[in-house]
Amino acid sequence: MARAITARAITAPPEKTSRHPATTSDEQDRVVTTSKLDFFAAALPAPRVDEGWARRVVQESFGVQAVPHELGSYQDANFLLRTPGGEPVTVLKVSNPAFGAAEIADQDELADVVAEACPHLRVAQVLRGDDGAALRATVETPDGPAVARLIRFLGGGTLADQAYVAPRGVARLGEVAARVDAALAGVDGADRFDRALQWDLRHADRTIAALAPSLPAASRDRIEDAAARAWQLVVPLAPELRIQVVHLDLTDDNTVLGADGMVDGLIDFSDLTRTWMVSELAIAISSVLHHASAEPASVLPAVRAYHAVRPLTEPEVDALWPLTVLRAAVLIASAYRQLSVDGENAYARVRLDREWRIVNQALSVPVEVMTTVIRDALGRPTRPAVRVPEGVLLARPAAEVLDLSPQSPLLDEGAWHDHDAVETIAAQRLAAGWRAVVTRFGETRIGAAAVAPAAPPSVATGIDLWTVDAAPLTAPWDGTISVEGSATVLRAVDVELVLRGVDAAGEGPVAAGAVVASTVPHARTRITVGALAAGVPESVPPQYAVGWLARVSDPAPLLGLPATGDGRFGDGARSVLRQRERVLANVQEHYYVEPPRIERGWRHFLVTEDGRPLLDMINNVAVVGHSHPRIVRTAERQLRLLNTNSRFNYEAIAEFGARLAELAPDPLDTVFLVNSGSEAADLAIRLALVATGRPGMVAMSEAYHGWTYAADAVSTSVADNPNALHTRPAWVHTVPAPNAYRGHHRGADAGRYGPEAAELIGQLAASGQAPAGFIGEAFYGNAGGLPLPDGYLADVYAAIRGHGGLAIADEIQVGYGRLGHWFWGFEQQGVVPDIIAVAKAVGNGIPVAAVITSQAVADRYRDGGYFFSSTGGSPLSSRIGLTVLDIIRDENLQANARIVGDHLKGRLEQLAPRHDLIGAVHGHGLYLGVELVRDRDTLEPAATETNAICERMLELGVVIQPTSDRMNVLKVKPPLCLDHAAADFFVDTLDRVLSEGW
Ligand code: PMP
Repeated sequence: MARAITARAITAPPEKTSRHPATTSDEQDRVVTTSKLDFFAAALPAPRVDEGWARRVVQESFGVQAVPHELGSYQDANFLLRTPGGEPVTVLKVSNPAFGAAEIADQDELADVVAEACPHLRVAQVLRGDDGAALRATVETPDGPAVARLIRFLGGGTLADQAYVAPRGVARLGEVAARVDAALAGVDGADRFDRALQWDLRHADRTIAALAPSLPAASRDRIEDAAARAWQLVVPLAPELRIQVVHLDLTDDNTVLGADGMVDGLIDFSDLTRTWMVSELAIAISSVLHHASAEPASVLPAVRAYHAVRPLTEPEVDALWPLTVLRAAVLIASAYRQLSVDGENAYARVRLDREWRIVNQALSVPVEVMTTVIRDALGRPTRPAVRVPEGVLLARPAAEVLDLSPQSPLLDEGAWHDHDAVETIAAQRLAAGWRAVVTRFGETRIGAAAVAPAAPPSVATGIDLWTVDAAPLTAPWDGTISVEGSATVLRAVDVELVLRGVDAAGEGPVAAGAVVASTVPHARTRITVGALAAGVPESVPPQYAVGWLARVSDPAPLLGLPATGDGRFGDGARSVLRQRERVLANVQEHYYVEPPRIERGWRHFLVTEDGRPLLDMINNVAVVGHSHPRIVRTAERQLRLLNTNSRFNYEAIAEFGARLAELAPDPLDTVFLVNSGSEAADLAIRLALVATGRPGMVAMSEAYHGWTYAADAVSTSVADNPNALHTRPAWVHTVPAPNAYRGHHRGADAGRYGPEAAELIGQLAASGQAPAGFIGEAFYGNAGGLPLPDGYLADVYAAIRGHGGLAIADEIQVGYGRLGHWFWGFEQQGVVPDIIAVAKAVGNGIPVAAVITSQAVADRYRDGGYFFSSTGGSPLSSRIGLTVLDIIRDENLQANARIVGDHLKGRLEQLAPRHDLIGAVHGHGLYLGVELVRDRDTLEPAATETNAICERMLELGVVIQPTSDRMNVLKVKPPLCLDHAAADFFVDTLDRVLSEGW
């Protein structure tokens, strides 16, 4: 019999002498019992075999020599077989003796079916000898004869090894489940797979009844109750749930990762069972719930992906979450049971923690709420909230209805940033003369005063009421009052009214119109009404809002007020994005795959439309912080006075021009005012061309200077324009990127870039192409925040001037105090350019930019160029420019950039020894670059990782983006008002992402 297996590295001995009689697969059916497994008949401890035993079995039964390494399993014994050299080659699977040989052969057959139907999926199929026979043998174990097989080893590790699973990874799991189910849907003789496994959720009630006694007493009731409630929801749906053969253990443990970190392999077909198809998805998504940061909503990408491949029916959608809860209950009960019958099973012990996380997450949101969330995610209609009968709680108060949405003017100037913002606003409105103040139902508010790693509960499930006097509240309907903790609850048929923060009049039955409580003057009363209002939190995270709001209604009509809620919690971000994509040119890109909608900023925070504050680590434009009140006042005042083009004679342009000239070193005393960095860079180039009368420019490689014609011509960054290198006009000459970290000269050798660039300029001159000028960022911002090598600009400026050209410093990103230690980047190099181009920070987001040069150079422009930029230096932009400079001075922002930047850089550097991905931390002040590499020797850029890390950082509350030609540097360039707490939050979050995965 042929026993050769494809894995070449395993050596087959010439002859075998077996104490374990090997059989062919046909013989097995006679040797091992063929009765189908019935979990309810017996407990199944894993076969008690060890690595020494496995080594003998593979040699004697399969004629191969290998080094076995035990893998965990509840009920089987699995060994990874390695070559003597340590290379993993195949898996020895010794099935539990309770499994019949026929059913094992059937499992192998279906693994082959899946492999054939899913060519992109690696499948742990049984290996076959040269004659095509499966490498299966019946072997003796201390627990009786069992079937042993060699199974294809799938490298890459399992999804369970990833601490964090990104939404795209979750989606892939759902898609794989759907493809496997599609492959198994039509198998012949499906009744071969009618088995009674504990994992079959059709028996979940019986399984839990059988296993619950093993649960710790303290949690048994909770698990049993949750399972019973979930089971009650499944029972009426059961007749309509489709039945087919499913893998039944398609979890993170049994899915294997490809090189891209996404699931591309499936192992372990030992639980194949004919049962409810939707169980497959429930089992798959439950395995997501123990991962880092996972919560019920984290499974939605898998549900959507499954549904896209294999659409779920209405009853299946409704059964999904109850089945997930049942799966969680079965898992935890099984874990305890396994320990009780097999206390030695280290695998089961290690898993307890995980199973608890799954249970706690599965039970963290009521089943009905999650089912509504799932329905909504699949575009199914969600059931309307119960209609509240008419009645009067409070005779129409003269109330002001507050707007507390993220865009409300009441939250301006960082008012939201105060923990007591809502209370303060209500108090102010009452002080302003209102008798009462109410809030809106279903409104998304800013849910937290500080940035946090999870979306805060931001959606109000009821309304708040403040009154000047104690107002009597009457029962709108007949019912029974009970005081439950801080809540006074009126229960009537089908509806609950919950009052919090009131003085209750008493308990017991009441008739409509009876006074049941009164408000406490100036204190908040929360009113919630709905079918099951008592269990509804006052505010809920937006991802669950649709589910919670289906349980409650707008209480405003009970106060005689028009309904206030209009379901504002909806998906504003996507609709805005769709509209943007419809009308804007495709190349006008946006950050992120699914960008949050952001309509408010404050200091170094951004606030999403669904009420979440984010830490803004990239907004170099908002140099003094978002929505600075002084800028707001300046803009408003100037817009009331005058805003016009720069040909008029007004004070602001003169004053601002003078301030800019003062900031520049001698002899740079003359200013042009324009609107953008591109315009400034373009003008700077034009000045050099005109002043020298020459056509050529020298630029640094891998740089970006703007999109306008001349600025674009000197930009060679392929990150910004993939064709930059081919489309560069002949008049642009480049010098190599002076990157001391990864350029062709590194470390101490970087000193050679300057002389080499100087030589190139010399060669151009010698060949009759003496350039008009050199343009370069004075600090290498777009390459990732690297300082230029010491002496670089001194060498280059000397060379360019030596040949009659001009030196242009692009300070558009790095200048204006951001570097902390220097106001201008060229100061770091100890040089003075002939022309400075500056933008971005100059207007704190209002379009204003400048070119600063000497009178002599500026005067030459007359000879060859036309200059008029209508709104460049307008009254508005000049006034704002002045205010920005005042704020930088008054708030010591350059010093802050130095102090907080040094702290931030120090902390980032401390991360490097713990995370191999960090290649280097570049930069100074608040222009830093964290360069991520796959290998510190080859410096292979970790670009996909950087992008994924940015997506994950956003989930955790931080806005950060990649930069450089390789897109592998996290660009850190926040508003200069960043404080230590925010810097620490950023570093801690990055640390977390690098530890947990992305
Ligand atoms: N130069 C540099 C160094 C820049 O980073 C940018 C903008 N990223 C520009 C010029 C162009 O500025 P703007 O986008 O304001 O036109």
